[in-house]
Amino acid sequence: MPAPKPGKVLVTDFDGTMTREDFYRLVVGEMLPPGTPDHWGEYRRGEITHFECLRRYFACIRATEAEVLAAVDRMGLDPGLPAAVAELNAAGWVVVVASAGCEWYIRKLLGAAGVDVEVHSNPGRFVEGQGLLLEMPTASPFLSQMLGVDKAMVVRWHLDAGRTVAFAGDGYPDADAARLVPADLRFARADLARVLDREGLPYRPFAAWSEVARDLLAKGAT
Ligand SMILES: [Mg+2]
Repeated sequence: MPAPKPGKVLVTDFDGTMTREDFYRLVVGEMLPPGTPDHWGEYRRGEITHFECLRRYFACIRATEAEVLAAVDRMGLDPGLPAAVAELNAAGWVVVVASAGCEWYIRKLLGAAGVDVEVHSNPGRFVEGQGLLLEMPTASPFLSQMLGVDKAMVVRWHLDAGRTVAFAGDGYPDADAARLVPADLRFARADLARVLDREGLPYRPFAAWSEVARDLLAKGAT
């Protein structure tokens, strides 16, 4: 761990937040052979963890690597993201990706867009015939047995270091992280927005990730 420094950090989810689509949803919708068990049901019944649910589905992928990479492209990274990251960096914001998905496709998409940011996610590699092999991030300081990488731990670590922390997300697993940051630095869409609405917790809505950047830059938060 680097020594804590003051500053401004935007911790952001990846799937459905920096992109239009979730990788997981594309896998379940397009890449599973017939007869794949209902691992989501197993997760919802508390029989397996969120990490294990994703690990099992990703290991069922029987598409070729080229087909999977084409699906990764269809996740639709916000085209305004590279410029938005550059503007945030110039204004003193550090962007940190925290994802319970897989580093493999996150690095592919960000790399193709020429974006170099800190990424905390679950490692993995694609092996044709075996699928995307998801691994526990055993070396990560943000390890959770349930999720792999725990986004709330990432947020808390920066808050404890005395930094201004914003968070952006779109899903149920983002709720713990979103609750930790101030309302004017809490960005939500889709399922996360519905959770926060139910709890009466205010947030800034967004449709595309670059709107989060625009909002932070406009308010000049320090
Ligand atoms: Mg998400």
